[in-house]
Amino acid sequence: MSVGLILKKVWQSRWTPVVVVVALIGGVYLARKVAPKETFELDADMLVRGNPNLHEVCLTFDDGPHPGSMDSILDTLRAKDVKATFFVVGKEVDLHPGLVRRMLAEGNEVGNHTYSHKRLNTMPIASAKQEILACAASVKRASGASMDLLRPPGMEYDKEVLQLNRSLGYVTVHWNVVAADYLDIPPSLIVKRVLDQVKDGSVILLHDAPATAKALPTIIDSLKARGYTFDTTTQMLARLPRPVYVASNAYSVKPPAPPVTETAKTKPVPKAPKVATTKPVPPAPGIRSTNRPAVDAPAWDGKSKGHTEHHEKTTLGLICPRPHEDSGELLTLKAASSGGVSR
Ligand SMILES: [Zn+2]
Repeated sequence: MSVGLILKKVWQSRWTPVVVVVALIGGVYLARKVAPKETFELDADMLVRGNPNLHEVCLTFDDGPHPGSMDSILDTLRAKDVKATFFVVGKEVDLHPGLVRRMLAEGNEVGNHTYSHKRLNTMPIASAKQEILACAASVKRASGASMDLLRPPGMEYDKEVLQLNRSLGYVTVHWNVVAADYLDIPPSLIVKRVLDQVKDGSVILLHDAPATAKALPTIIDSLKARGYTFDTTTQMLARLPRPVYVASNAYSVKPPAPPVTETAKTKPVPKAPKVATTKPVPPAPGIRSTNRPAVDAPAWDGKSKGHTEHHEKTTLGLICPRPHEDSGELLTLKAASSGGVSR
């Protein structure tokens, strides 16, 4: 029997529609399984998720800082030795600059969440730019720190907004675990929603709110019990299948000196241990290893000057230093590994 005859018989069979449907479903399933998961959109400079092959998560807190809930969140993070990333709102920073200094001094990262939390895709692009620059200026006034990470309010954006973020030197940070904790829900529900959704490489979206502050200890303990480790956003970027190196502003503020007690005054004060920095000096172009662990991730050294507006291809990677317009001359150094988009 010829192949043509077999195909003809199959085609005429009453089972043909079933076979076709099963084949289509199977094909889609296999394609999704086999296709590498996208982690970083290079064209938009956007982190979509962390490395799906690593048992790690990133805690992010939007909309603060608010006294009370943020104090509690920072206390919990410090007590449990976990670092997080805070996407702050400029007008809140102006009201509570000390909280931003504390975030940074305790090793957390701070990112831009605009000045007044308006949706960037609903305003002229010039106004969106002002929203971003005004928040950067607030953080700079409060702490002296620059920012390289940005999350648009409501995670609402269009192509123009993404290009604006990119042109200002920011990596846009998406999330893939959401608890809707900005609504008035009990801490137990926040815990449940996070634990139900979390998986390897999750970027967890939380908010600076009282219920979230109450839920946080259980969230951290439960994730630790499941074996997860916690990254800041720049650490997560540096651990992607194709790493992206972004300046971290963690520890850019020195912690306040401990108060001197009466007894301490009479005794010689031991030297304070050096605070570990997460800002290693970036390596020279061409010597970067694409498998460099996050602890060695190059970061802006606070002194670099000069930039190019285009991605400069080297033998081993892409280096794209760009200006920060908020500071005039402060620059960010960011490098993506060779091979382009991580998919
Ligand atoms: Zn927000």
